[in-house]
Amino acid sequence: MAIRNIREIGDEVLTKKCKEVKEMTDRTRELIDDMIETMYEANGVGLAAPQVGILKRIVVIDTTGEGAIVMINPRIVETSGEQIGYEGCLSVPGKTGVVTRPNYVKAVALDEEMQPFEIEGTELLARAICHELEHLDGHLYVEKVEGELQDVGEEDELEEEEV
Ligand code: ZN
Repeated sequence: MAIRNIREIGDEVLTKKCKEVKEMTDRTRELIDDMIETMYEANGVGLAAPQVGILKRIVVIDTTGEGAIVMINPRIVETSGEQIGYEGCLSVPGKTGVVTRPNYVKAVALDEEMQPFEIEGTELLARAICHELEHLDGHLYVEKVEGELQDVGEEDELEEEEV
């Protein structure tokens, strides 16, 4: 396993649409392991493959500290409600902004064995799923920020959730 370099806003790779994963290979397994390690090392709650420069439809999420959820070829199938809150991104370091997201999300994806599963999330998990899936289509949360993008104050940094 290895820590990979996190690409930052301005890098073209973050604006590209990612390709579906057709089969699990040793290379893809290694990518997933590296993404999980890179996410934890950066104290993030989620990471999408394009953030480490790979245009594949893979995201990893851990909003609870209970282990990473790996989602391959994920797709949101249901949303409801609304939450308004601050969001950050490991690819936009030191910044935060207010984004409105659904408060409930249901998604389908493949796991590391390429088996389909369904996941439901509310609050932070719902926000993280929306945020990460947008990375796979080349979008960053900054496009959705209401008002100004703000600098993260040092005192806020520990509470900041970056995905
Ligand atoms: Zn992000």
